[in-house]
Formats: sequence, C-alpha cells, structure tokens
Amino acid sequence: MIRKLLLVASYVALCIVSSCRSKTPVAGVEPSANYSKKPKNIILLIGDGMGLAQVSAALFVNNGLPGFEFFKIIGLVQTSSYNDYITDSAAGATALSSGEKTYNGAIGVGFDTLSRTTILELAESNGLSTGLISTCSVTHATPASFFAHTPDREMHSRIANDFYGKGIDFVAGTGKPYFSVSKLTEDGYSVFTGYPLTSMISPGKKTFWFYNDSIHPPKYMNGRGDFLPDATRSAVHSLNSNKKGFFLMVEGSQIDWGGHNNDLPYVISETVDFDHAVKQALDFAVADGNTLVIVTADHETGGLGLMYGDLKTKTIKPDFANTHHSGIMVPVYAYGPGAELFSGIMQNTDIFKKMKFLYGF
Ligand code: MG
Ligand code: ZN
Repeated sequence: MIRKLLLVASYVALCIVSSCRSKTPVAGVEPSANYSKKPKNIILLIGDGMGLAQVSAALFVNNGLPGFEFFKIIGLVQTSSYNDYITDSAAGATALSSGEKTYNGAIGVGFDTLSRTTILELAESNGLSTGLISTCSVTHATPASFFAHTPDREMHSRIANDFYGKGIDFVAGTGKPYFSVSKLTEDGYSVFTGYPLTSMISPGKKTFWFYNDSIHPPKYMNGRGDFLPDATRSAVHSLNSNKKGFFLMVEGSQIDWGGHNNDLPYVISETVDFDHAVKQALDFAVADGNTLVIVTADHETGGLGLMYGDLKTKTIKPDFANTHHSGIMVPVYAYGPGAELFSGIMQNTDIFKKMKFLYGF
C-alpha cells in the first residue's frame, strides 16, 4: 500500500517537473514544448538581410564564425509580411518585435495602422532594463520597430520623437541629426559621441551612444571598427545591474545594404562583424546562465546564390538574383534557457510569442 502511494506520488512529482508546466497553449509555442527553464535576460540579435547564403559565404571566406558555430539549436523562419510574400525590414522587424504581421513600411503598427505593443515595451512595463544597438540610425526600420509606432518608416523625426520618455536604458547607433541632445539629457541620458569613446560608460546609468554625428556609420570595410561588438559588451554589462533582467536587441544593419549593392565583400565583412557581436552576447550568456541568446534575420537580401567557390583561395564568385529582398526562409539560432523552443520551422511572429512566453509577460 505504502509502495503504491509512493509510486503515485513520484508520478505526480515527475509530471509537475516535466510536461505539466508547459501544458498551457501559447500561440507559437507547442503545447508539448519542453524547455530547461525560463531566462531572466534575452538578447535578440538581428542580421538585417542575413539569409543562409550570407552566413555560408562568411563562414567559408572567413574560415569560420565562432559565434554562429557555437549554436546547437537552429531553426528556420518564414518571413512574409501581412500582404506581401516579400517583406521589407519594417514589417519584418515589427513581426519580430510585436508578434504581428503587417504591411511593408509599417513601424510598430498593425495592418490597421494602430500601435502594437512591442517586446521592448513589455519588458519596460515589467520593470526590466532594455537596450537597442544598431550599425545604422536608431530611427531606421529595424531598431525603430521596437520603440516607435508610425505608419511609414520614412518618418524619421516622428520615430525619434517616439523615443523620448520610453525609458530605454542603453542605446548605441547613429542618427544624431534626428535627436535633440538636450531632450535626451532631460530624459536622464548620458550622451556619448564617438568611437572609441574617450570617457567611460557608467553601468546601470541611462546611456545613448552615437557612433558619430552622421545619420549612418561607415561600413566595417571602411574602418567602422568594432563598434557593434564593443557596444554589445558595454550594453550587457550595463543592463545586467537590473536584478529583474533585461531585453537587448542588437542589429547587424548593413548586411542588408551589401545585399542591395550586390557586393559580396560588403555582405561578408558585415556578417563577420555581426558574428563578433554574437560572440560577445554568447560569452555573457555562458558566464551568466540565465540569458537566452537568439540570432535571426528579418529576411534575405539579393537572392544570393553561391554557385562557384575556390577551396584553395577561399574565394566565392557570387550570383545575386536581384537587388531586392527574397522570400527564402532565414535561420534562427538559440542558446540558453528556453532555446529548445527555437528549433523547427516557424513564423517570424512566433519569435515574439516565444520571447513573451519565456519572460512570462
Ligand atoms: Mg535594418
Ligand atoms: Zn533591405
């Protein structure tokens, strides 16, 4: 009798620790999904225009990508927008940030042009720290879709205006002409300009770091330096002072621009730079143990075909199908608590749903 009771008790206990905790159905999350534990922090890295061909080319020519090669859990993401098989970066980023497919050009709004709440805004309202990093203007489609709500991606001043009062803790990128430094200072930001910085960023203090005074920073090939990985390291160090956790988005913005230019060395150098940022995120996540790192893309750019390569010289002669985006699925890589949810084929909107589920928002 006692033995039987013990058996029942241990069955119930097993049920509690294994499958039962993930029985609540959540859109984008399989009811049977098993995950080790929930993360405290999430770092989402987006390679704009980074399809599998871009990663393949960079991996081959660069003789490896230590960040990308670290991942064991990899999935595929369908990128179409609400009404177009081919997405742009605004609809692509809004799908990732808000979990909703929208029309091309939309920044943080649905197909009805009404605002959608983003994962960054949810993190803020739940008391977490937040950060945004890009190698383009902070008002550009990808970073903008995490904090702004405008019907058109070209409204840079309105997008910048949406930034004030949001409480975003760490920002690094460009776009200074769109922002008012005095308004940022009033908002409590320490504003830095330049790279490398001559003064120190204080961890835990609101930081806005402009690479330079321009709208966009230079290409990595033209001497941008290690701004992206350096900003990523500074951000995690700074945001980690919040005991409740943080959300950080890091964008390798110019992989896409290399694709639009059909310029393979541009694509590869930007992807290698992005990999260095991925490596910074992973180094933090490995040491921390409570951080989920997700690497994905909004879409592929250029329809890059790898039809001829030389094993001896490690060179590739690329074939670009066109100078626009393509509809091919993009990879998603995940490491850390909850990474298990990111294998298989999913929609871009599922990335938001999985992050929201794992945060418990
Ligand atoms: Mg972008
Ligand atoms: Zn593009």
